Amino acid sequence: MICVAVANQKGGVGKTTTAINVATALAAIGWRVLLVDLDPQGNASTGLGIPQSAREANSYDLLTGQVSLEECVIGSRVPRLEIVPATVDLSGAEIELVDMEHRTHRLRNALHGRSASRWDICLIDCPPSLGLLTINAMVAADSLLVPLQCEFFALEGLSQLLQTIERIRARFNPGLAILGVALTMYDRRNNLTEQVAQDVRTCLGDVVFATVIPRNVRLSEAPSHGVPALIYDHRCSGSEAYMALARELLARLPHLKRAA
Ligand code: ADP
Ligand code: MG
Repeated sequence: MICVAVANQKGGVGKTTTAINVATALAAIGWRVLLVDLDPQGNASTGLGIPQSAREANSYDLLTGQVSLEECVIGSRVPRLEIVPATVDLSGAEIELVDMEHRTHRLRNALHGRSASRWDICLIDCPPSLGLLTINAMVAADSLLVPLQCEFFALEGLSQLLQTIERIRARFNPGLAILGVALTMYDRRNNLTEQVAQDVRTCLGDVVFATVIPRNVRLSEAPSHGVPALIYDHRCSGSEAYMALARELLARLPHLKRAA
């Protein structure tokens, strides 16, 4: 199972929207996908229509070792897509983990057990911080998918993220790669968007995906219906963009293999 963390410490840049819709696109293409909701806000869980009552075993329990991966995985309305849901309990984990053994490796250890062969790829939806939850995701991950909103301060937060990645590489996970940076909420009519996108491409080069995710109201409506945009309206510009992004992402994962 290949593991990709969707990370950016800024909130509201499209992490969860990207995690849900890339996961759905990959499942639609035929891969068996596990989505781990690692944000105490539980937006990925809500966006996939998982009610609170179905989150009794969740990512907090997984991190604190109270349940195994098998025990906290639940199915979704999307065939081949399963999720480890999150509840607000997870907000305590950031502090509780500090005193725990192997505090940076708890997610990695939990995800790399026997049952990992049930899935081809795992996506982790990170919270908007660079605390222990995101560090757990970066230690567990083979690579990172970084959504970047095309706005004026987009690149500022990025240097902090890159520093954290360097630190994780040096101490815990030397192989951690940046799979790609995805430009989100792209608005062609806005000159600033175009300018920021150009600057980002000049600065980061090929690591930026060619596909850009447009600002599209369908993408923001879908979560309130508890379904991914790709199911809510598979022909809207946002859904088409996420499908294209998933294909581009697959092309960057030549080692991805169907699990036995
Ligand atoms: P994050 O997980 O980084 O906090 P979200 O994916 O939750 O970001 O997105 C923040 C808000 O913006 C949400 O309300 C979401 O529905 C909306 N949104 C995300 N991407 C788009 C987009 N491309 N077009 C329009 N709205 C979007
Ligand atoms: Mg989110």
